[in-house]
Amino acid sequence: MLRILNYINGRLVEPMGGTYLDNFEPATGKVYSQVPDGDERDVEAAVAAADAAFPKWSRTPAAERFRLLMKIADLIDARADELARAETIDNGKPLTLSRSLDIPRAATNFRHFATAILHTHSETHVTEGVALNYTLRQPRGVCGLISPWNLPLYLLTWKVAPAIAVGNTAVAKPSEITPMTAYLLSQICMDAGLPPGVLNIVHGLGAKVGSAITAHPKITTVSFTGGTVTGREVARTCAPLFKKVSLELGGKNPTIVFADADMALTIPGTVRAAFANQGQVCLCGSRIYVEKPAYEPFVSRFVEAAKKLRVGDPLEPTSDQGAMVSKAQLDKSMFYVDLARKEGGTILCGGAPPTGLNERCRDGYFFQPTVITGLDDTCRVNREEIFGPVVTIMPFSTEEDVVAHANGTEYGLAASVWTQSLPRAHRLAEKIQSGTVWVNCWLVRDLRVPFGGMKQSGVGREGGDEAMRFFTEPKNVCVQVPQV
Ligand code: NAP
Repeated sequence: MLRILNYINGRLVEPMGGTYLDNFEPATGKVYSQVPDGDERDVEAAVAAADAAFPKWSRTPAAERFRLLMKIADLIDARADELARAETIDNGKPLTLSRSLDIPRAATNFRHFATAILHTHSETHVTEGVALNYTLRQPRGVCGLISPWNLPLYLLTWKVAPAIAVGNTAVAKPSEITPMTAYLLSQICMDAGLPPGVLNIVHGLGAKVGSAITAHPKITTVSFTGGTVTGREVARTCAPLFKKVSLELGGKNPTIVFADADMALTIPGTVRAAFANQGQVCLCGSRIYVEKPAYEPFVSRFVEAAKKLRVGDPLEPTSDQGAMVSKAQLDKSMFYVDLARKEGGTILCGGAPPTGLNERCRDGYFFQPTVITGLDDTCRVNREEIFGPVVTIMPFSTEEDVVAHANGTEYGLAASVWTQSLPRAHRLAEKIQSGTVWVNCWLVRDLRVPFGGMKQSGVGREGGDEAMRFFTEPKNVCVQVPQV
């Protein structure tokens, strides 16, 4: 059986403890590979390698860092079919999604930050008649990069690319639930000629490898994407060590549909926002508020579209929905559907695993797209992140009402507003408490814009200049200007 290895100091190595964890294929429910059960010894070796590599890498000319990152991007493209298939087997998402979104985006992440470092500028402030201040933006040292399972390569490279582009070195920990594409990335980095120690990848459990990274005194900077509960733990560990921390956390995102919305665009757009990647995108819109005059027709068209989504073997090109990533995620969706029933909700479609799967997928972790009505904002189903293909639809009366509904959870990651009224769209965008507001679209991403959450959806922003700033330290140099 294939054994994934850690990537430390430019080499693929066994975990020091010699033990491995089973890695399951979600579509079949069977173990198909093993992943290192890493621990603090592996993290220690990775930090030592990253620390040793830092002085040279941080002084490597930007043009050379650009060349290496572009080479990594080219190799991702060259191996895109293999990476997409590996990710689908590892994660359960449809191969079509992995091939069209995750893998191309991983290459784009490297290209985005490779080119960005060729165009940096620094600030200058003239203290008139006295001094000239200029700002050096310097890499911070060894960065700890912790990523989740839902977009495994996409989110890992979203951190790795900016961190190393600006001259840091890194110790990364992918989710142990989906380690395969990170392993393939290790091979790609070796093939690209990335110097040893610049990127190190340690596999294993969050409680062992993740916490060893966040607690390590030589790791100055931590970029974490994952759940809010884990984020709180990361913050607790990093705060007394005064680490620079970015936290990209959970969401319970509102989708707001006004009666004037173009329904030909809105129905497929909101269905995609609800169920993409089996609802396992932090940005998925899981609370759908519809203006009263449009409520009944919207619900029936939305349910009709949800029922048409084909749940099946993620390797089949005809499947719109694949498997949930794990048994735990499947159980979580089932738990919330049961809770919805207890809270008085009506299940309009889904609510159970599908029937008619092929033989290969008989024991996989599949769940049907599920639509619930009849719940209000006070219900747990509408307040807690489910992170599965389970959405609720609720009517609203006025703009003020819907803003209050949208802002009524502890989260503030993303929202989408569907209307043909531009003034109304702008008004809502200003009032909704979330890091991103999409108008008449969802998951349209420009990598230059700041990305992140408000409230308990996170602290800090990633993307474009924000990432370049996060991964560098601004130093002011003040030079006196003698007057003649
Ligand atoms: P998670 O359980 O919080 O895990 C995220 C990562 O942290 C994993 O690599 C995990 O390792 C590791 N980890 C666990 N405990 C840790 C600890 N004590 N110290 C350091 N690291 C630790 O999240 P998940 O279930 O993988 O991902 C789903 C969550 O991520 C959802 O809440 C989703 O909304 C959020 N998310 C947010 C964004 C965003 O941009 N805001 C994007 C994607 C996902 P293990 O896998 O071994 O536990």
